[in-house]
Amino acid sequence: RLALTNISKSFGGQKVVDDVSLDIMPGQVTCLLGPSGCGKSTTLRITAGVEMQDSGSIHLDGNLICDTKHHVPPENRSIGLMFQDFALFPHLSVAANVGFGIPKSEAHKRVPELLAKVGMQRHIDRFPHELSGGEQQRVALARALAPRPRVMLMDEPFSGLDDRLRDEIRDETLDVLKAEGTAVLLVTHEPTEAMRMADEIALMRKGRIVQRGAPYNIYNSPIDLEAAKFFSDIN
Ligand code: ATP
Ligand code: MG
Repeated sequence: RLALTNISKSFGGQKVVDDVSLDIMPGQVTCLLGPSGCGKSTTLRITAGVEMQDSGSIHLDGNLICDTKHHVPPENRSIGLMFQDFALFPHLSVAANVGFGIPKSEAHKRVPELLAKVGMQRHIDRFPHELSGGEQQRVALARALAPRPRVMLMDEPFSGLDDRLRDEIRDETLDVLKAEGTAVLLVTHEPTEAMRMADEIALMRKGRIVQRGAPYNIYNSPIDLEAAKFFSDIN
């Protein structure tokens, strides 16, 4: 379980993350949902360890991974990342991309297994430029899962895909992550995406979490008019 406790961060005197606390359970998807600029990506970067918070702490399975004094480096956090612009290595094959960063002895079994899970085993010897956007996305998911992270952080990972493909890849991604038992923190500004993917939604506004709950509870009982409007264009 990933626990963020009272995380705050300012840039140039402006508080962009304001006292955020979140719990993310294994095998569950928590969506950080809110308008552009509300502080979602900053929260994710702090969790990944590529940005430092001003105050607050983060624990993973009860172990401290950062507070204002301690900072476990990103590569030692057991956290996987999937960002829209987090591209595959262009000069490496699909197999090498997925096997990157895990021991060779493990890779020969883990890589085909993961590629089968995302339906890409027949493309194992191709290079990224020989794949469609959706196929690249599937390989990126396999790569992110290869080191068996306990937590997956996803920042608008499906925004480059057309509607039909996005639905398909969302569903596949959910199946794979649930089967692996990974705790997922997914950032999106699209209510539709949050409604489809989340077990729990945390509604964010101006750096603060203003409402938390199961998708349909938030949809049916938005905390105020602004939240209601935000959900009104859902399809
Ligand atoms: P979007 O949906 O557009 O991606 P977001 O919710 O992810 O938005 P953030 O990227 O977290 O928003 O940014 C929150 C605010 O902090 C924005 O006003 C942004 O300009 C500012 N900000 C982010 N990173 C920095 C930085 N390194 N230096 C200064 N300001 C920053
Ligand atoms: Mg962002």
